[in-house]
Amino acid sequence: MPWKEGAKVFCQVIVDIVHENVAKPFTYRIPDGMELAAGQRVAVPFGHLEKEGIVTALVQETDVSPEKLRNIIRPLEEYAAIPPELMALAEDMARKCHCPPAETLRLMIPAQMRGERVHIKTEKTVFLCAGREEAKAAAAAETRSRKRNAILNLLLESQPRTIREISEYVNEPREALKKLASEGLVEITDSEIMRIPGGSVPQASDPGYTLTEGQQEALDEILPAMEKGKGMFLLHGVTGSGKTEVFMAAVRKALASGKSAIILVPEIALTPQMVSWFRGRFGPVAAVIHSRLSAGERYDEWRRIRRGEARVVIGARSAVFSPVENLGMIVIDEEHESTYLNDRHPRYDTREVAANRCEREKAVLVLASATPSILSFAKARRGDYMLLEMPNRVNERPLPDVEIADMRSELEGGNRSVLSGILKKALKECCTRGEQAILLMNRRGYNSFVSCRSCGYVVKCPNCDISMTYHIGSQDGLLRCHYCGSTMLPPSECPDCGGHYIRYFGAGTQKVEEEVRKLLPGIPTIRMDYDTTSGKDGHGKILEEFRSGRARILIGTQMIAKGLDFPQVTLVGVIAADLALNLPDYRSRERAFQLFTQVAGRAGRGSIPGRVIIQTYKPDDPVIGFAARQDYRAFFESEFRRRRNGLYPPFTNLARMLIESPDEEKADRKARETEKYICKLLETHPEWQKKVLSIVNEPPSVQLLRGKHRRQVLMKTLVSKETDEFFSTLSEIAEIPTDGADIYLEVNPTTMI
Ligand code: ADP
Ligand code: ZN
Repeated sequence: MPWKEGAKVFCQVIVDIVHENVAKPFTYRIPDGMELAAGQRVAVPFGHLEKEGIVTALVQETDVSPEKLRNIIRPLEEYAAIPPELMALAEDMARKCHCPPAETLRLMIPAQMRGERVHIKTEKTVFLCAGREEAKAAAAAETRSRKRNAILNLLLESQPRTIREISEYVNEPREALKKLASEGLVEITDSEIMRIPGGSVPQASDPGYTLTEGQQEALDEILPAMEKGKGMFLLHGVTGSGKTEVFMAAVRKALASGKSAIILVPEIALTPQMVSWFRGRFGPVAAVIHSRLSAGERYDEWRRIRRGEARVVIGARSAVFSPVENLGMIVIDEEHESTYLNDRHPRYDTREVAANRCEREKAVLVLASATPSILSFAKARRGDYMLLEMPNRVNERPLPDVEIADMRSELEGGNRSVLSGILKKALKECCTRGEQAILLMNRRGYNSFVSCRSCGYVVKCPNCDISMTYHIGSQDGLLRCHYCGSTMLPPSECPDCGGHYIRYFGAGTQKVEEEVRKLLPGIPTIRMDYDTTSGKDGHGKILEEFRSGRARILIGTQMIAKGLDFPQVTLVGVIAADLALNLPDYRSRERAFQLFTQVAGRAGRGSIPGRVIIQTYKPDDPVIGFAARQDYRAFFESEFRRRRNGLYPPFTNLARMLIESPDEEKADRKARETEKYICKLLETHPEWQKKVLSIVNEPPSVQLLRGKHRRQVLMKTLVSKETDEFFSTLSEIAEIPTDGADIYLEVNPTTMI
């Protein structure tokens, strides 16, 4: 065998193919002169194909016979794309999720890098060749050409500069540059440049706040833990308590001690302020990673992180895998948000991955929220996390007063508007004082359904078992399906009975906007929902319009409830609280409480106290009461008890095998077969069977979606290692579509429609 004593001439490679037969690493030979390291991406021969793979280990010996050994074709980069800590994390996740390592390794690098679909961007860049004195002298001597003079001065100021940058100061600089290059004063080369999301990065600045007592107390726990490299915290701070400032102070400390930090937010588009605060505070050492970046921007941000140029990463869920080195802290802001759960394969909970990573890399974990998830708060109470509380707002600002508007008595009193009398009055007063208001209406469109008064027929989507929503548009109104996007003209007579009493019911954001405009003519309003935010940076434009004060009333769906900090907002209205309460999901109480508390928290963040009005037909519902008192503890206790008694997550797992087929009969049959199969499987695995509480074949609430008939087998299980194995076996079955039906396994899915 051609190997030298001590040299590592073989390597093990996980080939980037997700298949159970390819789960183990393959051994390849490293050709003479090629240097490789674990974590490096390589091109390898695989059958008669060329595939990408990741080196997991270098070895000196192998059992593979020499004639079967093939050579690595080439490394894809000169460095290890995945650092050792993340290699270990991927391995561990694969073990825990019972999935092939190729699948978890994929999470560790930007998707765009695979298949080499992105390229390093280069641009013509100008350097000074001459020394500074010589260049200065030359600039002074360039009396005939103002352009050459200007270029030299620009480069003396700072260099290198791209030709594009130079063109911003000097019109048509090419000829002048050519001349300077021929004189040997400058050199023009292709240099690598980084695409920075959102343009340039501002220079670092600091408002110099004095920390509040609550902020200081939280930091007094977090900072020593970071030094020790061990600690998990749940920061429960009311809205406006200044949690971000705590993160930033901790990040500053991390940077000062040579460490790095990752700050996770639920969705970047909805938290532009967080990004601008961090970038403003830390300058180019902060990077941003999220799915709306272009492939190139994402790749470049990733490389800035990998090289250690960026040491603070702000991003959505997937940023938990950022290749920072010397990790000091991971923050998960608004930890209760469901976007932290990846319910697609490989299924993971970002909070668990972050905890795993922090433990491995001796970093601290900070989960933060004004309304922690039931799961996290229960863990804090049990002692898994240290609970840090910030019960007061910054500068002793009071929490807003919350009032409840009883819509039943409004209706009895003859008010058929979507706005109660008390909210109308409050809106008028707010505008007279020149302040701003936010109105939450958690449904878009104008009317939520169209129905025949004579026979009760409701217009439904032809592809989905869902009523069509009426939207007013620039021309005429259209009916739209919110699930598949199909549209139709509203019928003028009933398709069922031919009657002419077609009527429109239920309000959405468009209707609210119309009523507000009628109530307050001349007051500029702006609407933020799925329909108005589709363009590039759609969210950003709307938020800027409101921030600047050009719009005075912001009307929107739940996307307006999150983390926004607008000091001029003194009034918040929840138009239809019942929409959130009535969802058929065991989490609807938790979500409703979070939504109301979060949106209420947008009021009174400046120097003027805030006021919140919650409109409901169920004023006695305990969730409304907890939200009105903004009493998280009481809500937690009641919900925790309910979950425990009813055996709901986190005490159990709710899972389903979802079956979809264009053919209703096939869907039916497949559901019956699946149920039978699961029961049989459990018979042969009594250790799994013990953990399963129930199995039922029961149609979901929406039985037709996007033209496919849907059925489901629902399972309730205890939480255990055996259950994980059971689910992992089910997920393998689910991946194979059969008889014209697709099957999906969903464990604790974020929606149960
Ligand atoms: P939370 O996320 O807890 O709701 P934020 O972090 O958004 O609160 O902070 C609320 C506001 O208070 C922000 O405008 C922030 O700039 C300001 N702020 C935070 N800490 C301080 C402080 N120590 N002194 C003065 N203002 C502060
Ligand atoms: Zn539809």
